[in-house]
Amino acid sequence: MDCRSESATTGEGRFRVNANRKLLDVWLLVRCVSCDRTSKLTVHERTPVSSFDPAELHGYRVNDPELVASRLLDPLLARRSRFALDWTGAWRLDTPSVRRDEAWPVQLEVLFEDPVPVRPDRLIAQGLGLSRPEVLRRIKCDIPLRRPTTAGFTFTVMAGD
Ligand SMILES: [Zn+2]
Repeated sequence: MDCRSESATTGEGRFRVNANRKLLDVWLLVRCVSCDRTSKLTVHERTPVSSFDPAELHGYRVNDPELVASRLLDPLLARRSRFALDWTGAWRLDTPSVRRDEAWPVQLEVLFEDPVPVRPDRLIAQGLGLSRPEVLRRIKCDIPLRRPTTAGFTFTVMAGD
């Protein structure tokens, strides 16, 4: 049966390491979300054992979750394996309590722990509890608010009505 699904998951995150003499292949296993078929993303191909950082190699052998995450975030691997990450519902916004009595305008900074593509207007609306039109009216920002960004930015909140 042919499966047309284009979505896969790393599940709990497993690597497979295959040694051939002094060369190693390292794959990250992914599973189709629809038919469960497993496939492999090539992380390293026929790479000399000696060129690996021992800690990294250990990470591959024990399926270190941080190593899984960092490989998935590696743009080179994504390009080579032709995948894009689906961040839908996969990010969280930590907002320190905003002091409502503060004098306007207020300058705020957004920091990203991972390069998650988000639209600044949505992020700000959620973070400050503003409506989207209110965000467009009250926020001054050097980057386009409606275009997804993956890097930190600063913005200024102007006084409301
Ligand atoms: Zn499938």
